[in-house]
Amino acid sequence: MQVTLEAVTGVFGLLIGSFVGVVVDRVPRKESIVSPPSHCVACEAPIRPYDNIPVISYVALRGRCRACHTRIPPRDALLELGTGILFVLLAWRLGSAWALPAYCVFAATAVAISAIDIEHMRIPSAVVYATAALGAPLLVLASAGTHDWSALESAAIGGAGAFATFFALFYAVPKGIGFGDVRFAGLCGGFLGWLGYREVVAGFLISFVVAGVPAALLLAMHKVKRQTKIPFGPFLAAGTVIAVLFGAPIIHAWSNL
Ligand SMILES: [Zn+2]
Repeated sequence: MQVTLEAVTGVFGLLIGSFVGVVVDRVPRKESIVSPPSHCVACEAPIRPYDNIPVISYVALRGRCRACHTRIPPRDALLELGTGILFVLLAWRLGSAWALPAYCVFAATAVAISAIDIEHMRIPSAVVYATAALGAPLLVLASAGTHDWSALESAAIGGAGAFATFFALFYAVPKGIGFGDVRFAGLCGGFLGWLGYREVVAGFLISFVVAGVPAALLLAMHKVKRQTKIPFGPFLAAGTVIAVLFGAPIIHAWSNL
């Protein structure tokens, strides 16, 4: 039963990952995410359904367009694979299947926002708002299924607390973080808060540690200047996903130090 849930969730993740690729491609350019249908960027040939199977088509076509043989960047296949792997991990790690849809939505958003922030140095508010609009009723569903209504309260407080903290950081450290980070932090805080207050703390601590280590290394190696802007979205996304997946054992290890 458990293996079946993980396999089904993984296949679903690959398909959602394909949609993540469309979002990453079109949302920053303010294009529609439904039309036109997928096409080759070089020759504009429409991509046939059998050439649009996540990851498998990319491997089968050896990373080239069937019509014009232009190289297809591996990004979309990597986004599909990454989303699929995260979905499998969520099905494996989450204590309750009731919470799975909500956290799958968050994982897909985490992948999309990371890719967009790395490429464009910004986090589109539309993606954050759409995830909040979709995630909120799914967290209510999760609370109904697990009979844990207090989780909604900690989700609201976690989200508001994270938003307020990053809002203060946004004004305290000029040019440190963007307002997109403030909105996204609120979203992360909400999803972490549903799991518990300790998860909120763990998620943001992990984000800062994960962001701080490479930043310190690059500074030490004089690869970047102190003023160099580093997108913070991917670190928030990573910290939150790590805390959702492995927060319980990490918190347990900390409290035993
Ligand atoms: Zn082509």
